Amino acid sequence: MEPKNVSLEMKEYVADMGADTINWCMQCGLCTNLCPWRLVPGETSESFNIRHMQRLAQMGMEGFEEEKSLFACTTCGMCQTNCPRGVKIVDNVRAMRASIVGAGMAPANLRPILGSAHANGNPWSGPREKRTDWQEGLNIPFFGPDKEYFLFVCCHSCYDPRSTRIAKSVTRLLTQAGISFGVIGIEESCCGESMRKIGDEELFQKLAQSNVNLFNDKGVKRIITTSPHCAWTFKNEYPELGGEWEVFHYTEILDQAVQEGKLSFSGKVGKKIAFHDPCYLGRHSGLYDPPRNLLKGLQGAEVVELDRAREMSLCCAGGGGRIWGEVPLGERFGELRIVDASDRGAQILATACPYCVNMLTDACNSLSRQDSLEIAELSEILAIALG
Ligand code: SF4
Ligand code: SF4
Repeated sequence: MEPKNVSLEMKEYVADMGADTINWCMQCGLCTNLCPWRLVPGETSESFNIRHMQRLAQMGMEGFEEEKSLFACTTCGMCQTNCPRGVKIVDNVRAMRASIVGAGMAPANLRPILGSAHANGNPWSGPREKRTDWQEGLNIPFFGPDKEYFLFVCCHSCYDPRSTRIAKSVTRLLTQAGISFGVIGIEESCCGESMRKIGDEELFQKLAQSNVNLFNDKGVKRIITTSPHCAWTFKNEYPELGGEWEVFHYTEILDQAVQEGKLSFSGKVGKKIAFHDPCYLGRHSGLYDPPRNLLKGLQGAEVVELDRAREMSLCCAGGGGRIWGEVPLGERFGELRIVDASDRGAQILATACPYCVNMLTDACNSLSRQDSLEIAELSEILAIALG
């Protein structure tokens, strides 16, 4: 066996990039056991071991930077739930990636994504001036001093044709509930959450600072987001850059509106619905009840729980930049999720995140189950149930 090189400089560099807790790890391996990569077969599953990767980085040993492993983590946070030392594993992964991406070695498949976010302010290669195309014919109000909330629509739901349905449903529901909201539009940039998780710290700082300046200039005090990824980063990462606002995922606002009698659903749904907890709404933000409360308020809907639910929810595999990854059939976490939903007899698998919708739809199609199981974003079901 070849001896491994140990680099004290690399060890310190990774710690400086944000792996603050990497030395707390005592190598028990509980994290590895909980990781969803253990549930699927294939090359990535065989090579990816989060305990081992952290050990290499902890010691400054070469090997952690191997692309297939380093960029496999979806940042789902499952591993952290059971770490006896409270290691912030997702931060450690981000820091390891930042030490590589910061040196100009981003994986080839992610370079166009990062390039687009630099050039267009979004990772979807969408021209900035087309950010508001989804609003055509809808009369969406602009944010101004007369509006209580600024609605931030995820880039995915501004540009991806399937995902624009989420933006349209959320705005319809907020309007129906009488919520005072408005959008800013083409000056907005991507929240940068995925860019930071990929490890492009410089790009994240650029996007985030531009948003902080914009939102503060416009007088924003309270934000509603369509995606839990945007909500998480606004709430947890923007304050240190000068962005201190009250931030809500749309499900929180709608749940409150229903409880206050400002929103109700008269349409009958008549379907068996299971809810998939998105990692960034559930495990990372602790919001398990608002989407469930909303589903339970639907007439004729039978709501069933998946076996892996709430804190134990199985990741769709779209976080941490993995939405841009290519994974062979049979190795996708989403496929397990489709089987979970089918096992419960669900006719609709609902979720509340544009990335989850994307990943679960792909998985459902790859298993040819699209005729028996519909993948829907919660807002879409609610908008239809408005009648
Ligand atoms: S569970 Fe925590 S202490 Fe155990 S190996 Fe993983 S990170 Fe280290
Ligand atoms: S965050 Fe999720 S994908 Fe990444 S190592 Fe932990 S359990 Fe595995």
